[in-house]
Amino acid sequence: MKDELLKLKKQFIEEIVSVRNLEELTLIKSKYLGKKSRISEIMSSMKKLPIEEKREVGALCNKLKNEITQKVKEKNEELISKSTFDFDLTMPINKNRGSLSPITIVGKEVCDVLQKLGFTIVSGPEIEDEYHNFDALNIPSTHPARDMQDTYWTNSGKLLRTHTSPCQVRAMEKYGAPLRIAAPGRCFRNEDIDACHENTFFQLEGMVIDKNVSISNLLYVMKGILSEIFGKVVEVRLRPGYFPFVEPGFELDVKCLICNGKGCPTCKDSGWLELCPCGMVHPKVLKMSNIDPNIYSGFAFGIGLTRLAMMKYHINDIRILNSCDLEELSQFDIM
Ligand SMILES: [Zn+2]
Repeated sequence: MKDELLKLKKQFIEEIVSVRNLEELTLIKSKYLGKKSRISEIMSSMKKLPIEEKREVGALCNKLKNEITQKVKEKNEELISKSTFDFDLTMPINKNRGSLSPITIVGKEVCDVLQKLGFTIVSGPEIEDEYHNFDALNIPSTHPARDMQDTYWTNSGKLLRTHTSPCQVRAMEKYGAPLRIAAPGRCFRNEDIDACHENTFFQLEGMVIDKNVSISNLLYVMKGILSEIFGKVVEVRLRPGYFPFVEPGFELDVKCLICNGKGCPTCKDSGWLELCPCGMVHPKVLKMSNIDPNIYSGFAFGIGLTRLAMMKYHINDIRILNSCDLEELSQFDIM
């Protein structure tokens, strides 16, 4: 038995030297110290030995167990201290590169254009209060957007912002006039999800406040953004639209980029695609954020980044964008 214990010790020392990770260490620990280990077997079979020999083997077993415990402890510390910096340069390379989401790419492009035009990029909280999301934007409590069906409310009476427009309010409060800001971000509405609708989508809010700002300034900025994104001159048109925070309010349409205005299934044969609500900032909205509507005027627009990405990359199902389906998304890997 003494010889066998010496052999076990030698074998253990050889094995622990080549341990490379914590999993292997756990296996070795159970092999030599576990209930079914050879050392445990020897200890339980000692009863049959004469008393002198029993004492000697018992002492050897205990000594060996203590030595093994100590070595396992040391190895454990060594592996943990090494683990953060332990790169195995011989491992094969994963060739699947990550890529940016189409929404991120389009959002960055729009921000780049706006920054060149002197806009400051700002952000706001995704969990908003009722005042910034609705009241300060002249959205009365009777407006359908206030309906519980559309808005996710939290137990504490806050809500997940339903648009990026509260960023306008926060910027007006913080910076006053004149103002030129853009706020890209995620918005939430309690929608049933299908190919055209998502409960989580991305918008970009833009706002300009200054003296003598007019609708033609709005058109100039919108055409500039779209021409830059699509790499060609894009024709736009304004239709009247009702949004409580602008007066007059418009729907901005862009000439269908797929059929070039001739009519196709994407534009439902109209030749135009609805892109973003916009308009001249309502005097009440300016007033609520302490800007004098007798001195200043402004325009605001909300571009649907999700829709823009779908148009630019010809994505016909909105669900792909939030799907985390890398196979689908990697086809837009253009960065
Ligand atoms: Zn078309």
